[in-house]
Amino acid sequence: MNIILFGPPGAGKGTQSDNLVKDFNLHKVSTGDLLRNEIKINTPLGIKIKSIIDKGQLVSDDIIESLVDKILSNKKIFNRLIFDGVPRNLNQVKILNDLLVKHKQKISCVLSLTVDRDTIIKRVLGRQVCSKCSLIFNEFFNKPNNDTHLCDKKYLTKRSDDNTSTIVSRFDTYSKEALPILDFYKKQGILNEIQGMMQIDVIYKEIKAIIQPLATWLYKK
Ligand code: AMP
Repeated sequence: MNIILFGPPGAGKGTQSDNLVKDFNLHKVSTGDLLRNEIKINTPLGIKIKSIIDKGQLVSDDIIESLVDKILSNKKIFNRLIFDGVPRNLNQVKILNDLLVKHKQKISCVLSLTVDRDTIIKRVLGRQVCSKCSLIFNEFFNKPNNDTHLCDKKYLTKRSDDNTSTIVSRFDTYSKEALPILDFYKKQGILNEIQGMMQIDVIYKEIKAIIQPLATWLYKK
């Protein structure tokens, strides 16, 4: 079973993916994380995309295609993926579909988180990511504490694209591209729309109730 977590930047996709990874033994595929890692380790791809990401623009579909192709060819995580941040446009829907066919996999469920623009801006400006364990927190809405975060707080960082000017453009890009993508998955009968403005644990309860019945065979070896 593969899942897509869909929604604007700051909707809580990363946080909810982390919950699903823990409970259902899934593997998170965040194209944003993969791209940021290329920048962090200074690969030729990382150097090429740094300014695009810092401006909040999308990288080319070809780059996304090769990242996703590599992930889908990994047999260790076969059919146990949560896509966070892809697809971002209708062409990526097609690319993802073709790659899934190529690797004999499919999407069982799309979870779309709905959050309004003002809340998104607040959430993104407060977002903190641990550079050691990669968990995501928020200095306003989801502060790390001794139970939720084991690393030292010196590892908490801000993403370079989490600032007011880029978040508005990232949100607008999402709004422009989202409808046809949602329509596509609605027609396939696998779209679940979730109110993303509630507390993290309330949203997760709803997500878990959707995923649980699909996941009965997940642990089979
Ligand atoms: P995210 O972590 O999903 O917010 O992504 C951070 C940034 O990475 C985006 O603003 C884009 O520049 C780039 N990015 C991530 N996923 C994609 C994608 N599927 N297509 C194009 N660009 C992407």
